[in-house]
Amino acid sequence: MPAQDGRWGRISEQRARQLQRQVQAKEERIVELETENAVLHLRLAQYRGMSGKGAGTAAQLCSQCPEQEPPRRSAALAAPQLWRHIQALKQDTEALRASSLEVFRACREHLQDGLSEVVVAVQRAPLCHEALLAWQSKAGRLERSLQEVSALYELERQKRKVLHNRLVELKGNVRVHCRIRPLLPSDEEFDGQASRDSSASAGVVHAVDDETVLVRWDRPAHRSIDKTYSFERVYGPAESQQEVFADVCPLLTSLLDGYNVCILAYGQTGCGKSYTMLGPLSKDERGDLGIVPRAAGELFRLISENPSRSLKVDVSTVEVYNNDILDLLAKERRPAVSGPLREAPMTKATKREVSPPTRVPVHSAEDFVALAAGSLQFRARLATSVHACSSRSHLIITATLTAAPAGGSPTDGQSLGPQLQGQPAGCRASPESPGAQRAGEQVHAKLQLVDLAGSECVGVSGVTGAALRETSFINRSLAALADVLGALAEHRDHIPYRNSQLTHFLQDVLGGDAKLLVILCVSPCRKHVAETLRCLGFGAQVRHVQRGPAGGGGAAARKPRNRSPR
Ligand code: ADP
Ligand code: MG
Repeated sequence: MPAQDGRWGRISEQRARQLQRQVQAKEERIVELETENAVLHLRLAQYRGMSGKGAGTAAQLCSQCPEQEPPRRSAALAAPQLWRHIQALKQDTEALRASSLEVFRACREHLQDGLSEVVVAVQRAPLCHEALLAWQSKAGRLERSLQEVSALYELERQKRKVLHNRLVELKGNVRVHCRIRPLLPSDEEFDGQASRDSSASAGVVHAVDDETVLVRWDRPAHRSIDKTYSFERVYGPAESQQEVFADVCPLLTSLLDGYNVCILAYGQTGCGKSYTMLGPLSKDERGDLGIVPRAAGELFRLISENPSRSLKVDVSTVEVYNNDILDLLAKERRPAVSGPLREAPMTKATKREVSPPTRVPVHSAEDFVALAAGSLQFRARLATSVHACSSRSHLIITATLTAAPAGGSPTDGQSLGPQLQGQPAGCRASPESPGAQRAGEQVHAKLQLVDLAGSECVGVSGVTGAALRETSFINRSLAALADVLGALAEHRDHIPYRNSQLTHFLQDVLGGDAKLLVILCVSPCRKHVAETLRCLGFGAQVRHVQRGPAGGGGAAARKPRNRSPR
């Protein structure tokens, strides 16, 4: 049976190979396990080393903190303390809860209040809206009627301006008033009666009526004097400063209408020029206010009536002394003294004449008066035989009214005065006259208030030396004033303004349709009669001057009368 043997041989061969493979696999597994075993041995050795080190560290730590209690003991000790803390925390939490509740309640109440207010407001809103609409339409109606009234007012204002100017022109652009001062205790004729009744006929100069002055003196050994003069207004000795100003007041309306205005007091020393123009400016002096403070008050009153015109007022104060213009508001001024002592400052000041005088803005009548009064202490004074405190210079207080700069309401040409509306050059601020207009400014009008120096001649004042020179300058400048007024009366082509600083400085207000008021101040005394007659003669000459539309035939009608008393 060889075939069977061969089959059994193959089977056993296969079985051997199978067993061989199994042995090989077992051997590989053994090698793997041996390797793992070696690795584990290594790790064991490492852990053993590490545990040895840990035990050493623990022993070290224990040795470092020998005092520490075992944890269980310290926990037992800390427990009551912790319990107390917990109780305190519980209490705090409770309090916090309570106050939070309170705050919450308050907030809720506020919120409720606010909400109810909002509800009320919302309910009211439609009513308010209706009322607002009604008010808006009412305001619109009022605004329209205001515009109509404003237009009417402007129309009426223009008409009033024209009518007022016609009235002033009818009265005369140049007017002469005469004021007779009362007898004073220093006068020869003064007695008790005269002091009690200031209109008593103790003197030789009398106001016959409110337009006529009578000078009557029956002198036994000489020719009697019996002369009558007429002026636009004559004030007797009893007439007050208020009555004098009442006639000046309309000129300030003309000033606001844009006409230059000049008021000057003329007369011999001691006859009441300064009293009439200034009155007692300081609080120590007694008496009633003069034209300057009253005019300042009226000027600002008129300006405040129409604030939309934005007129500004600048004041300058100068004196014309020995034919020099001295700026009384200049910073480097010094108190004026008379006679030779005054020569030094005068030389310096003469140079100032080329530059315009200092102009100080004023915002109220009080500012105006304070400024004018302050500058007066620098005026030249001297005791003469007719007055213990005689002014040796012409004082000129100028108020310049300027309109707001271009773009402002007054530049529309309607509300500006004739100076800016192409009127004759005579009434404009002449650019070459001293103290004229600044570059770019719009001069609305100018008011010049002049307290002239005494007009008496040298013999009467009884002065000598430097004072004599002063008197001669005063006389020359007054003669130049008379010449200018004479030339204007005769309508001459050339008006000699430049013959004296006085007339040059007053150039703007002595021509064109500027308004000029000359107040002749006279003394009622016998001893002053010659000067009084000269003063009245000057006034009569000034009355010839008539300008503007009412001028035709005015001069003839205004010839001085020389008639007997009624
Ligand atoms: P002038 O300036 O002309 O030299 P004043 O004005 O100084 O003169 O006046 C001289 C004196 O006469 C002053 O004491 C003044 O108070 C007084 N006087 C002048 N006019 C009047 C008047 N109308 N009423 C009362 N006193 C007057
Ligand atoms: Mg005087």
